[in-house]
Amino acid sequence: MTGEGVLIVGAGQAACHLAGFLRDEGYGGPIRLLGAEPHLPYQRPPLSKAYLGASCEAEALTFHGSDHYAERGIELMLSTEAARVDRAERTVVTSGGERYPYGHLVFATGARNRPPVVDAPGVLGLRTLDDATLLREKLALARNVVVVGAGFLGLEFAAVAAARGVGVTVVEAAGSLMARAVSPVVGEAFRDHHEKAGTVFRLGSTMDSVVPLPGGGCRVTAGRERFDADLVVSSIGVVPNVELARDAGLPVQGGIVVDEWLRTEDPAISAIGDCAAFERPSGAGRGRIESVQNAMDQARYVARRIAGRDDAYAAVPWFWSDQGGLKLQIAGLAAETDQTVVRGDVGGRRFSAFRFRAGELTAVESVARPADHMTARRLFAAGARVTAAQAGDEGFDLKALPATV
Ligand SMILES: Cc1cc2nc3c(=O)[nH]c(=O)nc-3n(C[C@H](O)[C@H](O)[C@H](O)COP(=O)(O)OP(=O)(O)OC[C@H]3O[C@@H](n4cnc5c(N)ncnc54)[C@H](O)[C@@H]3O)c2cc1C
Repeated sequence: MTGEGVLIVGAGQAACHLAGFLRDEGYGGPIRLLGAEPHLPYQRPPLSKAYLGASCEAEALTFHGSDHYAERGIELMLSTEAARVDRAERTVVTSGGERYPYGHLVFATGARNRPPVVDAPGVLGLRTLDDATLLREKLALARNVVVVGAGFLGLEFAAVAAARGVGVTVVEAAGSLMARAVSPVVGEAFRDHHEKAGTVFRLGSTMDSVVPLPGGGCRVTAGRERFDADLVVSSIGVVPNVELARDAGLPVQGGIVVDEWLRTEDPAISAIGDCAAFERPSGAGRGRIESVQNAMDQARYVARRIAGRDDAYAAVPWFWSDQGGLKLQIAGLAAETDQTVVRGDVGGRRFSAFRFRAGELTAVESVARPADHMTARRLFAAGARVTAAQAGDEGFDLKALPATV
């Protein structure tokens, strides 16, 4: 790498940790973080859980206090949006016109909410601390909410709202919960769990219109049904922030395209976290992974690579979601699976769904079974072979399976 150090665009989960990991690896050059948000870097998962439920405050979400960055020689520039990359000059230009040189540039720009199907006043999204603060205030006054989208975030929001005694209706286009990510048996278990908390589901349904009501709130139309709500939350997925890379002439394919070393086509530029499209494990193909694990492992890897290591990136994907006291943990990636085997007690909502493709285990979804989750992560890391019969047999000790790598 030439001089000018490492410039990281973004100051979220991946960016903030990359800066720290670089110092941990002994990197002594300049490190600069450009972050569009005004807040000290913070963790997002509690935004839809403890913070939304008012059981923690914003200060508890920051990764570090303000002194930490200066102490570690990390220049943190908040409210600073990178607007353009000049690859010939190895410079990033901000929206305010400042120019920052780089020896190595890392995109850690994350993703933003997909615009709501109906973009009306009163339809809100949840991605940033500011979004969560607004939703928290509104939720405290709401009697009825409509959530559009039964993915992880929408369901976490629904669980917090229902726990506060708010009437919750979830409108979802798919026929099951978290349909893109989990097996039907897990989706059903969570549906049952949310329904017992009072949440009403309208599956196979989409929001058609939102009309303000004279006394406040709005009326949501979904198919033939109408729901009056004080608050509508749209949670229908995200789009990656790829524009900087694309405008700089770098390939973009559902995310910023990176190779097995997480480098873009330009070896002086890497991309990590929610914005990066890489060749994923478990035969899931090129794509992005939106998770804390992915952001952290990719940050750790790129720090080591910049510090001199040259092996390819490899990590077992894992994820968690907390929904009203019920924890879902996923290890691996469930792309195009053809067999699901259950271990444990589905009715008691303590089980794991082992998902196979052509006889190969690709993902394990654990509902209130943390030990299964940890075992699954170890099995994937060790390349252990698990058969469907072994997975479904509670008496079989999966931990005893031999490693192959
Ligand atoms: C409400 C919520 C709950 C979640 N819960 C979980 C969970 O339970 N488990 C889990 O594993 N994951 C969860 N996630 C996902 C997880 O938080 C993300 O995968 C992770 O934050 C990705 O890290 P990142 O650094 O790639 O992106 P981010 O953390 O989103 O950071 C990207 C940053 O880049 C900034 N940026 C973008 N463009 C520019 C620019 N041009 N110039 C300057 N700055 C820019 C953005 O403003 C943003 O601050 C949750 C996400 C949300 C929103």
